Formats: sequence, C-alpha cells, structure tokens
Amino acid sequence: MKKNLTDFPQLDVIAVGAHPDDVEIACGGTLAALVRQGYKVGIIDLTDGEPTPGSPGPEVRLAEAQKAAQTLGVELRVTLDLPNRRLFDTFEARVLLAKEFRKYRPQIVIGFGDKTPLASPDHWQAMQITDAAIFYSRLTKWDEHFDHLPVHTISSQLYFRLAFEPQSLQDWASHFTIDIGETLETKIAAVKCYATQFPPHKDHVYDRIRGAALVAGGAAGFKAGEVFVGVRPLGASDLVKLVLPKYVGEGRIVP
Ligand SMILES: [Zn+2]
Repeated sequence: MKKNLTDFPQLDVIAVGAHPDDVEIACGGTLAALVRQGYKVGIIDLTDGEPTPGSPGPEVRLAEAQKAAQTLGVELRVTLDLPNRRLFDTFEARVLLAKEFRKYRPQIVIGFGDKTPLASPDHWQAMQITDAAIFYSRLTKWDEHFDHLPVHTISSQLYFRLAFEPQSLQDWASHFTIDIGETLETKIAAVKCYATQFPPHKDHVYDRIRGAALVAGGAAGFKAGEVFVGVRPLGASDLVKLVLPKYVGEGRIVP
C-alpha cells in the first residue's frame, strides 16, 4: 500500500541502535541536548533486544524503551522487527531501515562506528546495515523495494561508540565532542529506565557511563561530553566559530 508522507513527522536527527539502550548509552546526552535546542529527534532500534537475561518479555522491554525515549524527550522511537542475537547485514534488513529513513527524512543519522568485541556482534552488523540503508534511502528506480516511498538523501552520517567500550574510533579524522554538561543526568535517568537490564548488582554501569562522559567532556573543556566521528571530514567557513563557539569578540568568551 502506498503511504502518504504526511503520516510521518520529518525529523532532523535519527540515532540507530541494535538494541534498546544502545542509543542512550552511546549518545543519550546529545539527543537530550538536541531536543532542548529545538531539533526533532528520533531513535530506531533494529531489534527489540529479546530474548535477554533479566527481562520477563518483550512487552516489558518495549515499555522500558518508550519510557527512556520520553525521558530524553525525543519525538518518536521505532522498534524494527529484526532478530536480536541473529542480526545480520542482509538486503532485507537494509531495506527495512531505509524505509524508515524515507518515512522520517532525517538530515543526520548517527549509529555504531565499530565492532564491540566481548559484547554483542549485533552492533557491528548494525553499523553495516545503517551504512547501507543510508545509501539505499536515496536510490532511485528501485521504488518497488521501498513501498514506493519517495527517495530521501541524508546529508550527514556520524558514528558513535558505547560509552564504556574502548576508544576504538581513533583512526577516523573528524572527531568532535558534544557538551552534555546539562544533560548527563538526563542520559543516566534514561538508561535507568531499563530496570530489567541494569538491576542493582549492575549499578556500576552508571558509574562507567558517568566516568566516560566526564573524561570525554573534560578533554574538550566541558563538564561532560560525548564523542562522535564524522564519516567525512568536517569543515567550517568561520574558523573562530568552529574552534571557539563561545567567543563573542573583543577578547571575551561567554561561559
Ligand atoms: Zn546493544
């Protein structure tokens, strides 16, 4: 059935995770900051994360995910019907995600940027699927695969990493840090919505998330931060605004 695009709100930014909680842990502070800045933000989870230890079932996990989305203030959260633990970069998975991009028409997509050895291999597959779906979203003469949704070109793609994973994105050239000093507590509150995933004996996760944010932020001169990588070199026409965004001239930098 042909769908009308007015059925779907246009978003500025979409963050893609393999499982509910990936996006919160990787970039929840930035998403909450974007919402406060007035941008329309969405989250797409490729799987519902089930089965998983500690969860009584998918309904509970989905309810946790929706509560976390509300905590961040994002416009919408979509959970795709791809299989947890058996996530693979297939044609069907690429098309499924590309259809969501065509519906919600983001300008920026943020997703996994590397493998996570010792953790779920779904994350690496999610990266491959996201890379491909961004490309598929703009391909013409292939409408039959996409429910005849119009093509959509995504302008910019960024990679994230899970807050407590090793700093594995160092090989990329365009690192930058987003100030989440105002939204670190919101990020942690969103992760805490996953009560089944982080029961009291896993409380150390919050310390790790907080610690990673403080280290990343401190290195860039913020109270807390999240690091991203641009898949292409990032540039600017105003050197001062790029390197000193709070400089207001006459030697003054606003706090
Ligand atoms: Zn995950």
